Amino acid sequence: MTDIVTFGEVLAEFMATRINQRLGEAGQFAGPYPGGAPAIFIDQAAKLGSTAALVSAVGDDDFGRMLVERLKADGVDTSSIATLADETTASAFVTYYDDGSRDFIFNIANGACARIAEAQFGPVLEGCKLFHVAGTALFSEHMIELARVAIGRVKAGGGRISFDPNVRKEMLDRPGVREALTGLLSSTDILLPSDDELNVLVEREAESEAVARAFELGVSEIVLKRGGDGCRYYDGSGMRELPGFEVEEVDPTGAGDSFGATFCTLRSQGMAAADALVYANAAGASAVSRQGAMEGTSTREQLDAFIASHS
Ligand code: ATP
Ligand code: MG
Repeated sequence: MTDIVTFGEVLAEFMATRINQRLGEAGQFAGPYPGGAPAIFIDQAAKLGSTAALVSAVGDDDFGRMLVERLKADGVDTSSIATLADETTASAFVTYYDDGSRDFIFNIANGACARIAEAQFGPVLEGCKLFHVAGTALFSEHMIELARVAIGRVKAGGGRISFDPNVRKEMLDRPGVREALTGLLSSTDILLPSDDELNVLVEREAESEAVARAFELGVSEIVLKRGGDGCRYYDGSGMRELPGFEVEEVDPTGAGDSFGATFCTLRSQGMAAADALVYANAAGASAVSRQGAMEGTSTREQLDAFIASHS
């Protein structure tokens, strides 16, 4: 029995060491750092003491071995991560600009994790309390179909579904993607959008209308991630807003995944939403204070200490 399960990319990330270093120019990169939204999510879930498994695939290479070892060391069940002899572990290159924007080059759809097989979900979904879908993992029709199958199994077993849309407008213009994502919303219990992602997805300008539309589709909790401004939480009965913790932002990548995993994991452990939001806010703030997307995940003790020292 595994409490929390997700699927999708696990990757080796390389970061340009200089601000404003374009990805097309020669320069220095730091890495490989473990990354990939689903991998960060599941690492954070495991650190909070739930049984947590990632369904993914890596190549038979040093990146793949490093990633599996790291997840294992953090307590993740890695038995559903396949090692594929003829594939290469996914990777990503990122650079930051002084206006806060980022550029990425991803080797994901052409990496080992694009070859996840349905059979890998085998026993791991048995008794699953929460299945998380990271929008970044829905990069092909095959991956969307895997999500659909897994969601069906988890729902049938009484589990809940969380969804971090991570959508970009360009992605929604691809044939079938908007329909697939809207369909996914109607299976979602906890929705974790950031910025205007929900507005874009349900095609509503105002936040209140977008939220109402999501509830109409069947969502029961919405946590809007608002970067340094914290978060807003909606359930059927109202709205709650929390300011962000004051920290120095060193590396924003991965904050959303640490935040989402903390909220969903603590909710699935039975914590009230009001308390889970404080922990999630602390997890996001801790994540941005550290370099490397997965370096910012935290244990319950670390979050307690963070909250105590920032209140
Ligand atoms: P990602 O870059 O991983 O996709 P996201 O856009 O999904 O992130 P954000 O809103 O950037 O999500 O961050 C998630 C949460 O992390 C925020 O809701 C907030 O709680 C916390 N957080 C992010 N940035 C900061 C910051 N600069 N200071 C304090 N807390 C932050
Ligand atoms: Mg962000």
